[in-house]
Amino acid sequence: MRLSVTDRCNLRCQYCMPEEDYLWLPREDILQFEEMDRLVDHFLALGVAKVRLTGGEPLLRRDLPALIERLSGKAAIRDLAMTTNAVLLGPAVHDLKRAGLHRLTISLDTLQRERFITLARFDELARVQAGIDAAVDVFPGFKIDSVVIRGVNDDEMIPLLEFAKARGAEIRFIEYMDVGGATTWSRAQVVSRPQMLDTIGSHYGPVAHLREDSSAPADRYRLPDGTVFGIIASTTEPFCRTCDRSRLTADGLWYLCLYAARGIDLRGPLRGGVSDEALRDLITSVWHARTDRGAEHRLATRDRAPLIPLNVLKRDPHLEMHTRGG
Ligand code: SAM
Ligand code: SF4
Repeated sequence: MRLSVTDRCNLRCQYCMPEEDYLWLPREDILQFEEMDRLVDHFLALGVAKVRLTGGEPLLRRDLPALIERLSGKAAIRDLAMTTNAVLLGPAVHDLKRAGLHRLTISLDTLQRERFITLARFDELARVQAGIDAAVDVFPGFKIDSVVIRGVNDDEMIPLLEFAKARGAEIRFIEYMDVGGATTWSRAQVVSRPQMLDTIGSHYGPVAHLREDSSAPADRYRLPDGTVFGIIASTTEPFCRTCDRSRLTADGLWYLCLYAARGIDLRGPLRGGVSDEALRDLITSVWHARTDRGAEHRLATRDRAPLIPLNVLKRDPHLEMHTRGG
């Protein structure tokens, strides 16, 4: 379960938030920690065992360690992770660890300052790198996620791999996805898994595929020197069939697929005083009726263009990747 704690962000990555302005979720709709806690308890009772905090940028949510502390106290959560852009990570990293966060994933697409500014619209690479360096000892073996975009950063796969390796991190290269919010997406900018493997293989030599039995989205590979990295081929080889993720937005809408047109309102029933049993019945019946195959449908779409037209996107923040949490 991916729990988005805010739709706000302190970057404007061009594959996620390329527009000049955004409509935000109404403040009064944002769930309090106590409400998130209760909803998470329902999902845990129904079998969820892994929770990932995301956003927007989760570190913008005031007092985040207090939420982590609540969650880390729940024995049913086997894995408590967070995805962050790391801008605010440096000063926060020890508090996150103390609060009980298990694992960290950091998004990083370039090591070049000018390119970072073009890609994320803020001059924040230095703070991101400081955040990453602060994480090395506190969250050893953390992950780095890089979206690879042709003509933007596809020439940086090797430097990024080396950067991760030097910090004991495992890097995962992600295909550029045509999710809501990616209004400048084009098929031509997608670097596919075989193309990524080509680039890496021609630099390092033969790359071994690690066969693993898991529902994790990343396929993992090993370089001749033992370094392991991942590729998430969500655009050209989607993994809908094995996907068991679901997403809760900061205002309590539940999405069963990143591409879903609509979410299920859990805030209404929660605030309306519906019984625990009724809420769990609702979650169970929706999950059992789930037929989502969003990425596979996209793959089958001819003349693929950005998923949601801008005028539609602008009317509903729930359609955005930065609201759904990635
Ligand atoms: N702000 C945090 C961050 O960037 O790590 C967490 C939220 S962000 C929406 C979660 C992940 O979604 C990031 O790793 C980001 O790279 C990824 N993402 C956003 N838009 C994407 C797109 N169009 N294609 C592929 N990945 C995307
Ligand atoms: Fe970038 Fe994450 Fe913010 Fe989207 S939510 S703009 S991916 S930092």
